[in-house]
Amino acid sequence: MPVQPDTAANLLMPLLVALVGACVGSFLNVVAWRLPRRESVVLPASHCPRCGVHLAWHQNLPVLGWLLLRGRCGHCRGPISPRYPLVELLCAGLWVAALQASPTALGDAPSWLLIGAGWLLISWLLPLLLIDCDHLWLPEPLCRWGLLLGLAVTLAAGLSQSGEIARALLFNHLLAACLGLLAFEGLSALAERLMGKPALGLGDAKLTALLGAWLGLTGMGLAVTLAVFSGAVVGLLGRLSGRLQPAQPFPFGPFLAFGGLAVWLAGEGWWLQQWSRWGATL
Ligand SMILES: [Zn+2]
Repeated sequence: MPVQPDTAANLLMPLLVALVGACVGSFLNVVAWRLPRRESVVLPASHCPRCGVHLAWHQNLPVLGWLLLRGRCGHCRGPISPRYPLVELLCAGLWVAALQASPTALGDAPSWLLIGAGWLLISWLLPLLLIDCDHLWLPEPLCRWGLLLGLAVTLAAGLSQSGEIARALLFNHLLAACLGLLAFEGLSALAERLMGKPALGLGDAKLTALLGAWLGLTGMGLAVTLAVFSGAVVGLLGRLSGRLQPAQPFPFGPFLAFGGLAVWLAGEGWWLQQWSRWGATL
């Protein structure tokens, strides 16, 4: 059966977005590797971390490059982590999902603004997630600039509707950022008192503040709830399977990032609905 022209057009957009998303994911891999090592994220060009040989342009293609090399450096045959293509695929998928996202946090802002904001948020949270997994560290400048960017996006989304809405949105998101920071820092101080050692990193407080700036009060509350639940489940599975030792520290940032993206992509309303449905079955 011949493909209908409008079906082709409907498929073209997500395909293009997936392609750009995969390229962005490839760049975010570089950011997550180089930023903690205080290397420039632009220069030098991508090279094998083992032998230092530069990658040819076709070996640099997202996902395909890794497949062409069959996961090994073409020069020293050292393994290249499957994490690279996986992050590229994840970023591509999330970018496509952002096309259909229904974030409630920014009111009735035009869809091009919501889609662009979604792409920005995804691309900001992914390196934070990766760096926290690798180094148990959420770089302060990334959190700070991400927070300011969230407030700027909130302001732009508000102004696209009316001055009054802009003021209300900005107040809500600013309040969420402050509350997120204070609540987490308070919780971290309390946990340190009770357990005699730091339990929650201060980076988690800053990342929560960032989510507040993007998602507002309700969205941030939902994102933190999702983070706590998913973190508890993964922590429990880790302990049961023996992959996580009793006192082994474990990054909370990835769960916060997951919660934030889940709320952004599905919308607050959907999660609140699931919440009440779940409450009714109990
Ligand atoms: Zn090599």
